[in-house]
Amino acid sequence: MAQEKQSADSVESPRFYEIAWDLYHSYENFKEKSLTNRRFKHSDIVLLIEQLKNKKNFKVDKVGNSVEGRDIYLISMGSGKTKVFLWSQMHGDEPTATAALFDMFNFFSNDNAFPDLKKLILTNLSIYIIPMVNPDGAEGFQRRNIVEIDLNRDVLRMQTPEAKILKEVFDSLKADFGFNLHDQGREYSAGNSFNPASISFLAPAPDYEKSLTTPREKAMKLIGNMVTVLNEFIPGHIAKYSDDYEPRAFGDNFTKWGTGVVLLESGGWRGDREKQFLRKINYIALLSAFHSIANESYTNTDLSIYESIPQNEELMMDVILRNLTIQKDSADYVIDIGINFEEININDSKDFYLRSEIEDIGDLSVFAGYEEFDLSGYTVEPGETKPEPYHSLNELEKINPAQLYNDGYTSVIMNNDNFQGEYSNLPFNIFFNSKIIPEAKIKPEEASNFIIRKNNEVKYAVVNGFLIDIEKVDSWNGNSIVYSK
Ligand SMILES: [Zn+2]
Repeated sequence: MAQEKQSADSVESPRFYEIAWDLYHSYENFKEKSLTNRRFKHSDIVLLIEQLKNKKNFKVDKVGNSVEGRDIYLISMGSGKTKVFLWSQMHGDEPTATAALFDMFNFFSNDNAFPDLKKLILTNLSIYIIPMVNPDGAEGFQRRNIVEIDLNRDVLRMQTPEAKILKEVFDSLKADFGFNLHDQGREYSAGNSFNPASISFLAPAPDYEKSLTTPREKAMKLIGNMVTVLNEFIPGHIAKYSDDYEPRAFGDNFTKWGTGVVLLESGGWRGDREKQFLRKINYIALLSAFHSIANESYTNTDLSIYESIPQNEELMMDVILRNLTIQKDSADYVIDIGINFEEININDSKDFYLRSEIEDIGDLSVFAGYEEFDLSGYTVEPGETKPEPYHSLNELEKINPAQLYNDGYTSVIMNNDNFQGEYSNLPFNIFFNSKIIPEAKIKPEEASNFIIRKNNEVKYAVVNGFLIDIEKVDSWNGNSIVYSK
């Protein structure tokens, strides 16, 4: 009997993989080209939602307003008996899935491609989507809403309009499946695999006992199918989010109230800080999930797939400089230096700059870096600040960085406060006040500015966490820090 139930399109069948690969290869035809990075705003998606109103497969409803009055929309499609509810970006700085949802809307708007898959999905499912639950947070690219409440901790008090909207729509649908779409930090790894946890899943627990209720089991099986598909594209980069029960969170409560909830977190991917590859993976994951629900292939999936997903661990750093030698009182010590970057939003723009911090020093062999450099045989010392000040931007632009590094400096002083901003694209840091220059040291939580030598000759500088080859300073495309207070 079990054998017969494995229809032609079950997740084990070649056809299922074929469709997923076709989605992968044809993605560029559907990608929403107006969304190019993570810091798009509510106004960007409103334009796209307005266009959906005129398309035949979609129904668009306004379901309420954020604290600052931005419209929150529910977009529906399909006419099947199984209800699927998706919501994205309840945390304003977690937009990867939102972009993928608009790619998916383009997929369903197109009359020609994938007719069988679309028909299967739209006749068996009714799909309801709130993209960008937290538009005020998205405006400033911050996690919380505008009154600094984390919407995903507001289920009990239910104070924010955004959380109320999400709950009201949930109550009106009583959906069979829910997709809770988030981004997670880049520090998460897939177990101890040295790979980022690029996509993490969870079927949230409905109680402290982590009971295996029917809706939760259904979500686990569906996740099993999604993992099987994604293993084609990102093997070794899939993890499981902590299943600790959180009574104030939506996913946990929606599970308790009878919906099979899939938490999907987009994490890091090497060379993809803007997560445009992971956006494509979201698109494939969601369409494959609809496929599994529509043909009920998930029902045959073994729970062991879910159980064997490695846990999220925090073993990733942005940069690891390995095997450097540091000298103290004529003794040598070999150290790795782990560096993380914080993204700082640039006011009223869709851009950001990076500020580095030393995360850890010593034996970092259990960690992995998004970027790693083996510096065996090189010595490291703190980058100093050149004491003689400069007086104009023009003077700064004439500095020969290689000469500066050769003299042991990674920062300069400027005696002219006509310069605006907190960062610069010059390959050295700038202090506007010599009184605020900290003592240069290589120490956790300090900025990462170093001089790196081989046989006493300067070969590299590290400026604000960016490794610069002294022979190739012109190819620098990082940012340094401007300290003005
Ligand atoms: Zn989140």
